[in-house]
Amino acid sequence: MFVGHYSVSFAAKSIEKSIPLWLLFLAVQFIDVLWGILVLLGIEKVRIVPGITASNALDLYFMPYTHSLLGALWWSLVGFAVYKVLRSRGANTRAAALVGVAIFSHWILDFVVHRPDLGLYNDSHKMGLGLWNYPVLAFALEAILLVVGLILYLRSTVAVTKVGKFAISVFTLILLLVQLATLLGPAPATAPAQAVAALSLYFIFAAMVFWLERQRQ
Ligand SMILES: [Zn+2]
Repeated sequence: MFVGHYSVSFAAKSIEKSIPLWLLFLAVQFIDVLWGILVLLGIEKVRIVPGITASNALDLYFMPYTHSLLGALWWSLVGFAVYKVLRSRGANTRAAALVGVAIFSHWILDFVVHRPDLGLYNDSHKMGLGLWNYPVLAFALEAILLVVGLILYLRSTVAVTKVGKFAISVFTLILLLVQLATLLGPAPATAPAQAVAALSLYFIFAAMVFWLERQRQ
């Protein structure tokens, strides 16, 4: 899953205002951020196999540290602990727990769309429901999740600037267009190219949200 993950960021923000939305944007992709770094380091493995799923060409054949169930639980715990410690003044346990849940939600949503490439622990007992093989359904799920998240966010905040009235909705539309472009566009040429593209987009989106969330409160 790609932009659908951000529905959890919006939902968590609507529950707990003290957490920056940009941080929740990074939290829901934290497992993929680690994945991108480990792929570039050659520790986790992906190869481009056109047609391996109907939605994309990613053969994610070795990613035990980031995308196994145990790995995802571990990183969620790390996120919870780091948030609790670093934001010791403002952060309550509920906010830190929500950051942990946001990190773990990545695995749940990936489980729905991935082919069986998510291990239980290490590289064993691979799981994945494979919705990527139904591109229209997979895209619809991402879009519905994202729009529901946006509605929750809009209902729990008010615009404090003129652009605040519409900017986050335009941004959500851009996310969907980027998702559509990755679905219809050419497959990435190499595994490192895929990792760099993913990492760049995750940080660009978080940076945009850093500015966007100042337009609403
Ligand atoms: Zn992932």
